[in-house]
Amino acid sequence: MRKIDTECVQGGYTPKNGEPRVLPIIQSTTFKYDTGEQMGRLFDLEESGYFYSRLSNPTTDAVAAKIAALEGGSGAMLTGSGMAANFCAVFNICSCGDHIVSSSEVYGGTYNLFANTMKKMGIDCTFVSPDCTDAELESAFRPNTKAVFGESISNPSLTVLDIERFAKAAHTHGVPLIVDNTFPTPVNCRPIEWGADIVVHSTTKYMDGHAAALGGAIVEAGRFDWNAHADKYPCLTTPDETYHGVVYTEKFGIEHAYMTKATAQLIRDFGFVQSPMNAFITNLGLESLHLRMKRHCANAQAIAEFLHGHEKVSWVNYCGLPDNRYYERAKKYMPNGSCGVVSFGVKGGREGASRFMSALKVAAIVTHVADARTCVLHPATTTHRQMNDEELVAAGVSPDLIRFSCGIEDPADLIEDVASALEAV
Ligand SMILES: *Cc1c(COP(=O)(O)O)cnc(C)c1O
Repeated sequence: MRKIDTECVQGGYTPKNGEPRVLPIIQSTTFKYDTGEQMGRLFDLEESGYFYSRLSNPTTDAVAAKIAALEGGSGAMLTGSGMAANFCAVFNICSCGDHIVSSSEVYGGTYNLFANTMKKMGIDCTFVSPDCTDAELESAFRPNTKAVFGESISNPSLTVLDIERFAKAAHTHGVPLIVDNTFPTPVNCRPIEWGADIVVHSTTKYMDGHAAALGGAIVEAGRFDWNAHADKYPCLTTPDETYHGVVYTEKFGIEHAYMTKATAQLIRDFGFVQSPMNAFITNLGLESLHLRMKRHCANAQAIAEFLHGHEKVSWVNYCGLPDNRYYERAKKYMPNGSCGVVSFGVKGGREGASRFMSALKVAAIVTHVADARTCVLHPATTTHRQMNDEELVAAGVSPDLIRFSCGIEDPADLIEDVASALEAV
């Protein structure tokens, strides 16, 4: 197996003699066949091939293959956004009447999806603290539980998930663990190596890294034994009439059953594909992901150390600080670095936070993280404003929390910017 840095640069696409060196953008909705029979075989999943870009496209497939290689999975697919990936990852194995267990410390949009939107579809979610006791975790499961969900590093509370522990609990109950690995990226953390069965991404963040293209990805490890829990997953182990009765686990094995169903059925019916153009842009980002992550992490470490103990700062949360609650856990799961996002509170609460943010010159106030340019956000009044105070606390977001996403600029300029903005507090 090639090293991860090489996969970032070259994974997913190997040109043959005389073909373009750069992954081409196949900007075509459709593909031509000589006979109707040939195309018919594709519709029956008898052969693999392209016929309509809502189902699959060579450019997006190449980028998905790169992300699968980075995560060490057996396959992957791209979606139009990270939210589409999260929805699809769960809905692929859940239907009305089912239940999931999720870490309560997840991205605001994901919380909303699980707590409200999927509830309307008849899928219930029990939220547990990522640091709950074994007994609390155990009692969250029900007979109709179909999946466990968590974020390797939560956005924005920056909790590091004990992936092995959550995987073990999920497997004890015969269900897969889904991990959103957006913040550390596979360069810093590979959840599949710790027991995760499915990994999801908002590629909008570090993978693109330039705030140019929305996107999501789902990766399957390819080793969860759906057949051993066939009663829970009839969607994978009994005939799909929309493909002349294909049984995904029989035809594609446990290695590819989950992802084949997700592409052949959910993308077909919901249509949340990623465009070839966005996949191309995401791929440009992936080619430097391994280099950028190092600088993002070094800058975050420098900012966290600067903020730590500053008289205008009430608290700092970054797992790279030795006194951080998650320092040891981060060392285990992401020994080479975590992510570029630091959160902290300034003295003076909401008012102080707003003064600080307005005084920044290098860091920009934007609804985004994990960009090459440093950006800053106050979640309580933006991304998490749909939550009440109780829900905010459960999600690990205090009202004074500032999310500071370090870009890849020179650390001295970032520190100077933060130092002078703190004077305004
Ligand atoms: C941003 C984000 C999402 C949602 O992704 P979009 O691409 O914005 O749809 C999901 N999970 C995490 C951890 C995120 O940071």
